[in-house]
Amino acid sequence: MAERSQTAPEAGNDMGNDDAIGGNVSKYIVLPAGYCGQPKKGDLIFDACFESGNLGRVEQVSEFEYDLFIRPDTCNPRFRVWFNFTVENVKESQVREIVDVFRVVLRVIFNIVNFSKTKSLYRDGMAPMVKSTSRPKWQRLPPKNVYYYRCPDHRKNYVMSFAFCFDREEDIYQFAYCYPYTYTRFQHYLDSLQKRNLDYFFREQLGQSQQRQLDLLTITSPENLREGAEQKVVFITGRVHPGETPSSFVCQGIIDFLVSQHPIARVLREHLVFKIAPMLNPDGVYLGNYRCSLMGFDLNRHWLDPSPWAHPTLHGVKQLIVQMYNDPKTSLEFYIDIHAHSTMMNGFMYGNIFEDEERFQRQAIFPKLLCQNAEDFSYSSTSFNRDAVKAGTGRRFLGGLLDHTSYCYTLEVSFYSYIIGGTTAAVPYTEEAYMKLGRNVARTFLDYYRLNPLVEKVAIPMPRLRKEKPPPSKHPFLRGPASNYPNGKGDKRRSVNHKDPSNPF
Ligand SMILES: [Zn+2]
Repeated sequence: MAERSQTAPEAGNDMGNDDAIGGNVSKYIVLPAGYCGQPKKGDLIFDACFESGNLGRVEQVSEFEYDLFIRPDTCNPRFRVWFNFTVENVKESQVREIVDVFRVVLRVIFNIVNFSKTKSLYRDGMAPMVKSTSRPKWQRLPPKNVYYYRCPDHRKNYVMSFAFCFDREEDIYQFAYCYPYTYTRFQHYLDSLQKRNLDYFFREQLGQSQQRQLDLLTITSPENLREGAEQKVVFITGRVHPGETPSSFVCQGIIDFLVSQHPIARVLREHLVFKIAPMLNPDGVYLGNYRCSLMGFDLNRHWLDPSPWAHPTLHGVKQLIVQMYNDPKTSLEFYIDIHAHSTMMNGFMYGNIFEDEERFQRQAIFPKLLCQNAEDFSYSSTSFNRDAVKAGTGRRFLGGLLDHTSYCYTLEVSFYSYIIGGTTAAVPYTEEAYMKLGRNVARTFLDYYRLNPLVEKVAIPMPRLRKEKPPPSKHPFLRGPASNYPNGKGDKRRSVNHKDPSNPF
């Protein structure tokens, strides 16, 4: 990148200077060095004082180059990955003039200089997202305009630089690490679902974070909620890490499918109770943090002993799960926590390691079935571990707490792309592709519980189906479809279902 000018402020101790970043920039005008007058057109204005915004500092390197500093997570300077900011006051005429006269495109270069991670999908073609007033749909920048490298000017820190051409003077441009998904968007989404008055969708406030509410959804047929009914529960959580926005798109895909009139969704609601807490860290999401809560805690390391005042949302969810576990009428069968991954491609899962080989094998069944349903889900990237550093995660803690008939997973999805089997080309994820993964997760429960034959019956209006008990199994812990392929081999009938024309996937 360009030499730093003598007059530009000293970029200095990039990592060490993070403590100088107190909050987001607010309509920050970058004036030319030595100029003290009123800002002119072309003096860029940066802003991140909006929901989920993040930009801590701007330093001008030259007329067309800026160093940008991510604001660290609140109360935790270790995490600096998520960015989301606007740029306005672009001087379009200048750009056009140069294009016409010199036949070159004038580009502004932004350097994001204080990432806390070194490994990144930027090396593999990932690019920041951009939208503008006149083009309100998020797009990824062309990867050829993005560079990720160790920079000698920044203590050999990794820097991501991207070149951008501003082409409309009146537009406000917004740049982000990935598709934003804010707390307000989430609340509007839930409000719109509630307005539909569905008799199988219930929304309650499970708790309160420091500033915002923790929503809990229950999606099931009302019959499953009557007094004394036995329940098979699938518990799903998302956005414990607030910067992992793809988690919300996947979660919305699950919810949208489960509340739909699709025959598969109707069968799932008849047989299962879905408990979903889609946004476990609402304050972190609102603030534009990457990993932590308002108080600076990585909530996914505090499952062992969450405090009601320091980790209130986690405390609330854990209490509910323990209560369900202790209820003899409730069988908590699945726990899935949805995240996004900053260095891996595809969707994949993390599971637990158990001494009991059979339990270990049974745990592999759900990801194998999901792999058959979702082209972007990779079973080969799915792994099982018991690293000490992951001991405080929901997946590990609940895997230890719940009995051997429960399965606990972390579902990860790439911030960037997926590679379809047999090809090498990376397909960048869109918001829709993330939601589709969610729909496929929901649909996989049909295969797991082997409810497929019921779908066609439900498709034709007919008297209500009686709930059927799963056939007795040789192994008391193997239920539903799992009993027939404990080694994770796919059910042959799956392929028949795959061709079902009613299948929207
Ligand atoms: Zn995460």
